[in-house]
Amino acid sequence: MAVAAHLCRVFAFFEIPSPEYHGRWSSVSPLFRKSRLSVRCSSGESPSSSTSSTAESDFDAKAFRHNLTRSKNYNRRGFGHKEETLQLMNREYTSDIIKTLKENGNEYTWGNVTVKLAEAYGFCWGVERAVQIAYEARKQFPTERIWITNDIIHNPTVNKRLAEMEVQNIPIKDGKKQFGVVEQGDVVILPAFGAAVEEMLTLSEKNVQIVDTTCPWVSKVWNIVDKQKKGEYTSIIHGKYAHEETIATASFAGTYVIVKDIKEKFKHAVSKGFDPDKDLVKVGIANQTTMLKGETEEIGKLVERTMMRKYGIENINNHFMSFNTICDATQERQDAVYKLVNEELDLMLVVGGWNSSNTSHLQEIAEDHGIPSYWIDSDERIGPGNRIFYKLKHGELVEKENWLPEGPIAIGVTSGASTPDKVVEDVLIKVFDIKREELLQREAVAA
Ligand code: SF4
Repeated sequence: MAVAAHLCRVFAFFEIPSPEYHGRWSSVSPLFRKSRLSVRCSSGESPSSSTSSTAESDFDAKAFRHNLTRSKNYNRRGFGHKEETLQLMNREYTSDIIKTLKENGNEYTWGNVTVKLAEAYGFCWGVERAVQIAYEARKQFPTERIWITNDIIHNPTVNKRLAEMEVQNIPIKDGKKQFGVVEQGDVVILPAFGAAVEEMLTLSEKNVQIVDTTCPWVSKVWNIVDKQKKGEYTSIIHGKYAHEETIATASFAGTYVIVKDIKEKFKHAVSKGFDPDKDLVKVGIANQTTMLKGETEEIGKLVERTMMRKYGIENINNHFMSFNTICDATQERQDAVYKLVNEELDLMLVVGGWNSSNTSHLQEIAEDHGIPSYWIDSDERIGPGNRIFYKLKHGELVEKENWLPEGPIAIGVTSGASTPDKVVEDVLIKVFDIKREELLQREAVAA
């Protein structure tokens, strides 16, 4: 049976038939007849890696990584240049405007613009660490070619800066990474989201210097899916199936299903040879570290209830395991926006990379509270004049004229975990300029 048809059967038990559903309802097993979720049965292709497959069930990905981390060509702690690289990052990424806000209880008024900054926002510990280790790698290997398997983080400003430092992304051709460009003597950085185990295997065979900046919160999820694999549980991974982190997590899982979200576009992928009849007897939940916590919990509860119905409450521990692997930084930023949207605000500015998962959820929270919210990745999305080009929570790109209301305004501001303060400052300066121009014009008319 085609993978797509499998998928429709897998998710039919969550499903209310919708225009997005393309499966065969007649093939749904009784376990899956109670349906609640919206499903899109798309191609069903597994997240792919461009390297040789290690999907065979007897490959122990965790043991392989464990050995790799002990090899002489591997580094995940930096090279002793921490202080100077942090100083450099401070010069490049910090902001006086954010400093003023922090010194004034996260609220300050410039002209007729009051800015209210979320209590938790911007660079997280894992991102700062990853960027700093990448800077260290450049310092340690000044003449060697340095590659990176994906963008270090989801922020165009930081990625551009690394490109200026001649840290090159592995080229992609026909959707596949060209690891052939990497030669002995080169250095390869694994980004904060980690890398698929197949890629690590390829690099290990090439005997290159690996600099691993994977956030420990991400590798914690790998340990969880490994545990599920060893217990013969199918991993239901709440994540975005094309996101680098989820691709990496899936590579450490045994049998898996990737679920994007509970309400809308619920995209997914499954492991090779997935069979819903035998692979949904024992299931475990795991999630991409940057998902919306409430949604992960809802998915977990739904799956748990279904397994209870099928196997009995008394047997649930033999059929279901769940871990919340949303990281603290993601959680704190979400909590801060939930708090901020309850204040008197004219609008929200959400600053972060357009491919940043954690930023998308900050935008989602603001939108769901009915506040005009503008998600932009840099100040270049503002202008000319009072115009903005921004993104909505589901990815629609929108252009809007006169987005800043006339007169005094209060703006809520937050930024994703991979956004430097300097990027937020540049955005706010554009806002101040527009409002200053408005005042000048009003004075000119009155004169
Ligand atoms: S958002 Fe969380 S998982 Fe991602 S880098 Fe930051 S701390 Fe790590």
